[in-house]
Amino acid sequence: MTTEDVGQLDHTDPLAAYRDHFVGAASGLVYFDGNSLGRPLAVTGPRLARFVEEEWGGRLIRGWDERWLDLPQRIGDDLARVVLGAAPGQTTIGDSTTVLLYKLMRAAVAARPGRTEIVLDRDNFPTDRYVADGVARECGLTLRWIEVDPTAGVTPELLAEAVGPQTALVVVSHVAYRSAWLADARELTRIAHEAGALVLWDLCHSAGSVPLTLDDWGVDLAVGCTYKYLNGGPGSPAFCYVAERHLDELTQPIQGWLGSVDPFLMGPSYAPAAGIRRFCSGTPPILGMLALQDMLELVEGAGMDAVRAKSVGLTSHAIDLADDLLAAYGVVVASPRDPELRGGHVTLNHPLMREVTADLWERDVIPDYRDPHGLRIGLSPLSTSYAEVRAGLESVRDSLERMTA
Ligand SMILES: *Cc1c(COP(=O)(O)O)cnc(C)c1O
Repeated sequence: MTTEDVGQLDHTDPLAAYRDHFVGAASGLVYFDGNSLGRPLAVTGPRLARFVEEEWGGRLIRGWDERWLDLPQRIGDDLARVVLGAAPGQTTIGDSTTVLLYKLMRAAVAARPGRTEIVLDRDNFPTDRYVADGVARECGLTLRWIEVDPTAGVTPELLAEAVGPQTALVVVSHVAYRSAWLADARELTRIAHEAGALVLWDLCHSAGSVPLTLDDWGVDLAVGCTYKYLNGGPGSPAFCYVAERHLDELTQPIQGWLGSVDPFLMGPSYAPAAGIRRFCSGTPPILGMLALQDMLELVEGAGMDAVRAKSVGLTSHAIDLADDLLAAYGVVVASPRDPELRGGHVTLNHPLMREVTADLWERDVIPDYRDPHGLRIGLSPLSTSYAEVRAGLESVRDSLERMTA
């Protein structure tokens, strides 16, 4: 494919103009890490400055009563509508993904007394595996590991073999952080339910990239990041979803005042709030959740189906270029080639990729590196152009050319 052909891809891209909304997108830097830390939106700086001046500075402590205390649930409902495919009242923002994984895993296993196992796969994200290990130890449970092909992920067959009457909870990533394997959420949820287990989806690598229909899939629980494809900024708080049918039944282990039924009663003991607010614990990180609102507005304008279509276009383009430019150097595509089985990034394996990544960062081409030998190319649909993908993969080729000469 020639440079003119790539120009044509950008020219006919219905979402091309969205790139102008992002800080820095006009520079020559190639950014392949929107799946790790999304770029800021241009409107976010002024929004934050306005908040400091008018709300924090102007309203002071009155801000809590007027607007801030409900903000986690209000933004949660917006996120649910735009990104999660979920009705209001089931989503809230706060804590990190790691902490929310802990809260929801504990809530889930407590709701399945007598069952002895948590099922998850060896290639799940480290924090998911570490938290599950801690919860298992704390609650006297066992982890049952699914062994997966690291270039793929959890299939219905693999899950069906792992679950049974002993399974309390299944924990799966919707898009695998390494391979980009896109799990069949509806089918895996059905299989977990058939065994009588609950299922907790980690949506960190799919929220804002792959359309989700949590209510329709019958998902029980989900968590996800807001600083990746949702551009909330470094360390912006995570979200959690708890299906309405579980809201009265589940309780979480960090029983703070702001998840209690009447925080300002300052009563002698804890009773959980009704609804999703019971999954909150302490004072919500308001500053951290402001930028997320800008991205939700942008995504709502574009529509998640169009975002996904562009994502598939970008990852397909990256794989075509890897075949054209990099296969001769021994680079292997370590992500599914079928776009239906792939999320928003592509991993390319080669023994030199650690060195290649360091070299590219020096040249303002920013992918990331994941063991073993994986160059991970994250393609955030609204901020990435086809020309950027081409420029980045040409740089990978140049790097390999120099290192293998
Ligand atoms: C990025 C990511 C996390 C990160 O968790 P934090 O608590 O925000 O550090 C967790 N799970 C998956 C699958 C991720 O991709």
